[in-house]
Amino acid sequence: MATLDSSKLPIVRRALHVPSLEEIKDVLARALPGNFAESTVEVVDCPDLTQQPFTLAAPGLGGGTKLLEVGGPPFLTPLVNREKVYDVKTLCQNVNHSGRAFVIGAGAGPWPHFNSNCELIMNISISPSEVKNETRIALVDQKDGKCVQQSLPKTETRFALLSNLFLSEGKPGKVIKVHAKKRTGKDNFITTIRKALAARYTKQLVGLGGTFLLKEGKAHQHIMPDFSITPLNNDADVNKWLNFYDMSAPLIMVGTLVTSETDDLDLRVQHFHSFSHHGEAGHYHDDTTPDTVEYLGYFNVGEALYRIDQPPVALGYGKD
Ligand SMILES: [Zn+2]
Repeated sequence: MATLDSSKLPIVRRALHVPSLEEIKDVLARALPGNFAESTVEVVDCPDLTQQPFTLAAPGLGGGTKLLEVGGPPFLTPLVNREKVYDVKTLCQNVNHSGRAFVIGAGAGPWPHFNSNCELIMNISISPSEVKNETRIALVDQKDGKCVQQSLPKTETRFALLSNLFLSEGKPGKVIKVHAKKRTGKDNFITTIRKALAARYTKQLVGLGGTFLLKEGKAHQHIMPDFSITPLNNDADVNKWLNFYDMSAPLIMVGTLVTSETDDLDLRVQHFHSFSHHGEAGHYHDDTTPDTVEYLGYFNVGEALYRIDQPPVALGYGKD
């Protein structure tokens, strides 16, 4: 399967509203107590994210911050479009990004590499002299239905179908640190953050990207099995097809959130995938242990959003 030529993909650039980190801190600090018994929000110097417990491919989230939303669920359902294979390395050359490209986020993995559909947990740093590829994928074991996490070789920079990526130069700098413990409300960590920003910025599009640790507790997560041979026509079909798991901390999540789908770009408002050092990886839905759950996140604000290869028709399902 040929990889799509990044220079020929339709790409729409949208400037994002960029509030100060202090302003975002205030918005989040007011909202988190609505869903968590304990919480703190601070503007801090980003810790070195290459170190434990995050183990990302670059140290920070700074420099030329961009959200990239590529493809979408209509390339997966009702039936897969196998032509939709992208290369993150060349994509980053077509979105006015200079310097190192540090890309983290959630999507569908490079099915041609495994001859199977899979989840993508992107975590890669690409500079002219070096590629550091810490990306993982998650597959469903066809024998027993268990989760299989795998690393990708340095040269495998492809993904497929859809993704929500946060691109930066990976530089140190100021970020928003969010710590929350013991969930008392119905909204999970990311939903709480997204709704708070959406309520504050009703007319402007704001996007965040970054990483968070599910430090304690468990999470309800899914892994896509291989492509369905029968059409998936609604969320019920999709949920029957997906494999769901209760995965254990510590899980290292990466992804993006935006304050609105927008009228024209059919954005996915939040999308985070996790990898781990104990073999579990997948798509984050919720924590399942509200009494013991603990989250620690670092986020930065995107300056622009790039909508890449937007599907011609929106589906209205498959974005949970
Ligand atoms: Zn996902």
